[in-house]
Amino acid sequence: MILRRYAPKLRPHAIRAVRWKRQNGHVQYDVAVAGLGGMGSAILAHCARRGVSAIGLEQFERGHDLGASSGKTHLFRKAYFEEPAYVPLLHQAYELWRELERDGREEILRLTGVLSVGEESSEILNRTLKAAREHDLPVELLSRRNVLARYPTLRIRDDEVAVFESDAGVLKPERAIAAHLQVAAAHGAEMRFCAGIRDWSTHHDGFEIHLADGARVSARALILALGPWFKHTLESLGVPIRVQRNVQAWFTPAMRAYDAARFPGFLVDRRELPAPLYGFPDFGDGVKVAFHGFGELTDAEHFDRAVDLARDIEPLARFMEEWMPGAADTFLEAKPCMYTLTPDEHFVIDRHPEHAKLILCGGFSGHGFKFASVIGEIAADLALDGGSRHPISFLSLGRFAASERN
Ligand SMILES: Cc1cc2nc3c(=O)[nH]c(=O)nc-3n(C[C@H](O)[C@H](O)[C@H](O)COP(=O)(O)OP(=O)(O)OC[C@H]3O[C@@H](n4cnc5c(N)ncnc54)[C@H](O)[C@@H]3O)c2cc1C
Repeated sequence: MILRRYAPKLRPHAIRAVRWKRQNGHVQYDVAVAGLGGMGSAILAHCARRGVSAIGLEQFERGHDLGASSGKTHLFRKAYFEEPAYVPLLHQAYELWRELERDGREEILRLTGVLSVGEESSEILNRTLKAAREHDLPVELLSRRNVLARYPTLRIRDDEVAVFESDAGVLKPERAIAAHLQVAAAHGAEMRFCAGIRDWSTHHDGFEIHLADGARVSARALILALGPWFKHTLESLGVPIRVQRNVQAWFTPAMRAYDAARFPGFLVDRRELPAPLYGFPDFGDGVKVAFHGFGELTDAEHFDRAVDLARDIEPLARFMEEWMPGAADTFLEAKPCMYTLTPDEHFVIDRHPEHAKLILCGGFSGHGFKFASVIGEIAADLALDGGSRHPISFLSLGRFAASERN
């Protein structure tokens, strides 16, 4: 009796793992997460939090900056011009980012507000207003005069207006990934870095995952969150993927008007721009700016990480001067990054059509980071519960088959 009281308590997942190990010579995890970028780190944290045995597998070192989820800042917006159906997910993403901040006692999301500027006919502005109306989100429609009263240094044109969303702001991606991995570790998740997945096969009641170094990992469920490296898998399932090189650049501004304490995130929709221009106020490491969805098509294996000043930086600096004079005063640094674009530029969050326990999270199309916290919850739902309460049917794999038939 005494012995039993003091014996260590094994959780159900540990008992299953011991039984599997006895039979097969190695551990079977409840869930394996492939890729520990923005999405995979969140997914691993949510799985581990539910008390199951979980392992994360990442091809590069911990803290690497070679994936899509790097770059110091990513915009968070709720009045979602891309598609209002994302708004309920954004509400939950917001709550989960705040929860993660409480867990890690570190700021991850700063609500600077986001100012979107364009002509009254701008599709981006009109779709932003539509999403706000449909979901009762607080946004302000500002005249040119209103904008200049708040931000006198800006060059807003006579025929332009703006939408200001105060509940929007800036996420810190590197901190978010580190915080999610910490939560995962605190709940017992294992992680292997420099452990690229070569392939996987179905095995007994789960998956056998083969790593590049010859090691094998067994798991009852497998979640793939491979960012731009997902192209070939998604294409094999009928989703054509374009990987696009997008360059983000940092500049030291000539004045304090663009400090994060007084200036918001921004998005400018002007006809002469090659793509909408968006950016971030200065958090101490410069103003960051990029075109949203402008660059050559590539793939993760042939991606050009070198920066060419004439090609990559000068157009950004020139257009910045026409919109935010003095903001792009001195070029600091730049970083090319990959968008993983689906045909309709919406995500793929679904179960594999033939394997219910194989979960696909990809095609984040250059706007996914803000959702990472809720994608973590959804992927854990799909892998461990077989379904999710979140409204994700518009992100299903099946929509591509349907659009092919039409
Ligand atoms: C320049 C730029 C700006 C952006 N701005 C915004 C923004 O303002 N707001 C926003 O919401 N979103 C933004 N995005 C989009 C957002 O960054 C992505 O949607 C998101 O980061 C995708 O996360 P992920 O986890 O899918 O990919 P990644 O972060 O790339 O993670 C994939 C991980 O999988 C690993 N991996 C791949 N293959 C294997 C393998 N075989 N074995 C093991 N591991 C593997 C990779 O090494 C990587 O760590 C931007 C993207 C870019 C490129």
